Amino acid sequence: MLQVNNLTFQYKKKPILKNISFTVNTGDHFSIIGESGSGKSTLLKLLYGTYNLNEGQIFWKDNEILGPKHNLIIGPEYMKYVAQEFDLMPFITVSENIGAYLSNFYPEEKQARIQELLNVVELQPYAHTKAKELSGGQKQRVAIAKAIAKQPEVLLLDEPFSHIDNFKKQSLRRSLFKYLKEKQITCIVATHDKDDVLSFSDEMMVLHEAKIIAKGTPQQLYKNPENKLIASFFDEFNEIENYGILYANQLKVVKKSDLKAIVNQSYFKGYYYLIEADLQGEKVYFENDKALKSGLSICLSILKM
Ligand code: ADP
Ligand code: MG
Repeated sequence: MLQVNNLTFQYKKKPILKNISFTVNTGDHFSIIGESGSGKSTLLKLLYGTYNLNEGQIFWKDNEILGPKHNLIIGPEYMKYVAQEFDLMPFITVSENIGAYLSNFYPEEKQARIQELLNVVELQPYAHTKAKELSGGQKQRVAIAKAIAKQPEVLLLDEPFSHIDNFKKQSLRRSLFKYLKEKQITCIVATHDKDDVLSFSDEMMVLHEAKIIAKGTPQQLYKNPENKLIASFFDEFNEIENYGILYANQLKVVKKSDLKAIVNQSYFKGYYYLIEADLQGEKVYFENDKALKSGLSICLSILKM
């Protein structure tokens, strides 16, 4: 397993990460979430050995992961890292980029492996396209395929689908994460997209102000969000006096209740509308199957999760 003990790191004066400790089991899918600037990318880079730690240690199994002070080449051979700004060789094809780390000793095996990887990232039609002619999202998929080509034990992914459009994202995500699980590749994903986490992560943790503020399964954190930051990662939510944090789908219009509100606006969301209403001077959000007229008086009741 991956073990992080008491890690502290700063680029300049201000600590970016303070006393960070966690473990990731072999073969698990682990997510790091947090607002922009919370240190997700920095943490992934540290796991890869990019910088020297100020304090603490990182281990994969019995190997300590050390920074550049102790290593000529950054990145242990059992680990691959796909950065937020992925780099490819622009003048060679997608297939050649994906195969860049593969040995030429068995050309047929190499070609078969490249085909398999093209399937995982759904880029078969672009096998012979030069990397420089690809869109940002396509490049990101090539970078992922290249990183898993030699079956690393650990894969670090920094916002892996951030450049990929919604048309492709859902199926690509399923395809990649299923592949990693099958091959038991330990995968650590920094993300701000709940869809990367909810259906796939064995565990997740939340970074805020240099610390881990929550850790658990997606189910645990979703069902019991300890604060607004965590709730806001998952969904629209409300904080209502005496009731605490409630997701928009936990409020429902009923004929009679003590929670009386006035409708402000309805937002079409596909199979439901998100309704914004005024509850004793506070904005509340709830889901309803129909749009409601602005100014309408309603009563709300709370559904248990
Ligand atoms: P995230 O990935 O969660 O958005 P980052 O790890 O990229 O966060 O950044 C965390 C903090 O570290 C930010 O305040 C950022 O400005 C700072 N930072 C990131 N990289 C560097 C660097 N190379 N030198 C100095 N400060 C940096
Ligand atoms: Mg980042």
